[in-house]
Amino acid sequence: MLNPLITAKRILISAAQAPDSASLMRLIVDRIRTALKVDVCSLYVMDEQGELVLTATLGLSEESIGTTRMAPGQGLVGTIAQRQHPLNLDNAEHHPRFRYFEQTGEEDFQGFLGVPIIHLGQTLGVLVVQVQETRRFTEEEEAFLITMAAHMAGSLAGNLKKATRPLVTDDHVPVLRFQGIKGAPGIQIATAWLVKDDVRLDDIPERDGTSIDYEQKRIAEAMADTRDELDTGLDQLGSNSNDTLNSLLDVYKLLLQSPELKQAIADEIQLGVSASTALKRAMLSQIAVFEAMDDPYLKARAEDLRVLGVRVYRHLHEELNERMQPENPVILVGREINISHFTRIDHDKLVGIVSLEGSALSHTAVLANALGIPAVVGIGDEDLSSLDKTEIIIDGYRGLVIGHPPVALLNEFQRMARQEKALQADLSHLKSLPAESKDGQRVRLYTNTGLLADITPGLERGAEGIGLYRSEIPFMAHNTFPTEEEQVRIYRGVLSAYSPKPVVMRTLDIGGDKALPYFPIKEQNPFLGWRGVRFTLDYRNILLDQIRAMLIANVDNDNLQLMIPMLSREDELERFHAIVDEAVAQLKEEGYPVSKPPVGIMVEVPAVLWLLPRLRDTIDFVSIGSNDLTQYLLAVDRNNPKVASLYSHLHPAVISALRGLVRECKRLNLPVSICGEMATDPVAVVLLLGMGVRTLSLSAFHLPRIKWLIRYLHISDCVSLLDRAQNYRTEQDLRDMINDHIRELGLGALIQ
Ligand code: PEP
Ligand code: MG
Repeated sequence: MLNPLITAKRILISAAQAPDSASLMRLIVDRIRTALKVDVCSLYVMDEQGELVLTATLGLSEESIGTTRMAPGQGLVGTIAQRQHPLNLDNAEHHPRFRYFEQTGEEDFQGFLGVPIIHLGQTLGVLVVQVQETRRFTEEEEAFLITMAAHMAGSLAGNLKKATRPLVTDDHVPVLRFQGIKGAPGIQIATAWLVKDDVRLDDIPERDGTSIDYEQKRIAEAMADTRDELDTGLDQLGSNSNDTLNSLLDVYKLLLQSPELKQAIADEIQLGVSASTALKRAMLSQIAVFEAMDDPYLKARAEDLRVLGVRVYRHLHEELNERMQPENPVILVGREINISHFTRIDHDKLVGIVSLEGSALSHTAVLANALGIPAVVGIGDEDLSSLDKTEIIIDGYRGLVIGHPPVALLNEFQRMARQEKALQADLSHLKSLPAESKDGQRVRLYTNTGLLADITPGLERGAEGIGLYRSEIPFMAHNTFPTEEEQVRIYRGVLSAYSPKPVVMRTLDIGGDKALPYFPIKEQNPFLGWRGVRFTLDYRNILLDQIRAMLIANVDNDNLQLMIPMLSREDELERFHAIVDEAVAQLKEEGYPVSKPPVGIMVEVPAVLWLLPRLRDTIDFVSIGSNDLTQYLLAVDRNNPKVASLYSHLHPAVISALRGLVRECKRLNLPVSICGEMATDPVAVVLLLGMGVRTLSLSAFHLPRIKWLIRYLHISDCVSLLDRAQNYRTEQDLRDMINDHIRELGLGALIQ
């Protein structure tokens, strides 16, 4: 019996090997036709004009591909698209909505089953199978096709959407236009550098080995790591684990333990090649054996081996960790761009980021903001491979990426990029001027950092201190936990560069979307799990080492403040203080002239909003981590593009919570600042100033723009705009109202 989930996943995994979208679609219809043993399988895709176009077929006439089209509601396929409901018919011609498309040659087929492909409520296309006999399809067949369509919608939405794109460049190369999410502002035109994390077994480069023992050890470790990974139930498509999936994982595990495979790899290594070359060769020869078999079950093992081979290869890492050395500045393009990519390229060669995954608040976006380079994230499942080494436009204000741009478009974007540079240059005179409102209220502007490369831009743009030093970033750039001495060196670099200006160092905040490559944490719900201070209190030694290093680095600088991430309980604060006290006592005993620095907390977990009176006597300040606070208040994952439109720091509940928080801080005489990305949004800044926030910490790139804004604002206006805020029905209406005010001040250039 056909297992819908396993078969559907297997088809998609094998199709992922296709070199381009057209072959991908063809492969899928081919595999479905084989799996269901039907005469025809066809895929109709909705184009950008809202018409359904026959995009791939096996069984109907090849000439009808691209030419057979219908509007929703027209014919059987159009009806399925319009009603978003399957049709299962023993005789298609007898259905009142049947319409004959001559070029297809479909008069030979009676039995018809069509299902819609729906993604986030929208019809992307229709999947159809047909047979010559006059028969209805079985429930099992229907269930399979529905499952297949659901998986295609989830993992191929991008490929389907771009199947029919009308734009054509001057020299007839089609323009590629990708709409993503605004990750970091700015416009850039540069060569795309594709990050090749999506490895194909056949593309693994062949290399000589270092020594037989060494290569054997590496492959044994990589296979053990893969086994561990399978044990934890991670699957290729990232879905949640369930029974059927577990049985697929069991198949992988069995294959991985196969003595033949191990022997074949060992034999190759004996020939003097590297572990990854041996893996590739052994896998490919076993794959060839399975592919030659007639039995469809055994044939499918070949696909499993391909998936498995890539998994083991990833654990060998090698090529994936190479330094990137482009000659000219590039825009990094990939499924996921993370800190390890940032650390493998010179910063002056990195001018933009494009990633299929992530959202405005993902750490990719946060880092891009910190470096002042534009980023477009969360594009979804698109095939970006054709952009590699071509000139692309990235517009971080609108979340847009354009490949193969026509000359006219290129000129227009170049003009905008020049204008933007000119605005930045115009604002450089603000460096030595205070961030003071028109009605004389002084605001402190601090900067957020984490990368050492990020220290100078903050100072150059007039930061009055560091409001958030993300200490996990140097940890992420290492291959092991950094030693105390290494940490002292890094922290001293930061503290001394700013001394005597204050530097707020946040202790290690890993977990959630911030993983250490050498300490993976696998959890069902990472954002509700072992994050920030929860982790470091359990690994007391790591926290103690880190605080000791910060205190030592502070000895001649005396500008350190400590900040606790992800605090949610009073006893966590007590335990944190105990560790700081212990570090101070130890260091004093060792002869260091240290003293306990001020200790503050981040307000990220909503529970803290109600705990402040209990915490008041043991904290010196609070800093609003609006990125996480918004995520937790709204129950919206900050990294999930599917819910990115629901993530908003202008949501009335967020505004109301912050208002209450600032009021409470005032009542408790507790200094409050904000270090989340909200402080970079001019509209949000108006509201925050209205609430009474007078310290903002933000990336260096945004600092001059926000200072410019503050110097034109009257705080009294901010207070009345905040009062009016609650009358607006949607966040966009509220944004429009405040943007009108910003425009009236003559600062239209700030509106994104
Ligand atoms: C926040 O949550 O607002 C914050 C500043 O921390 P991070 O973005 O590093 O989680
Ligand atoms: Mg946070």
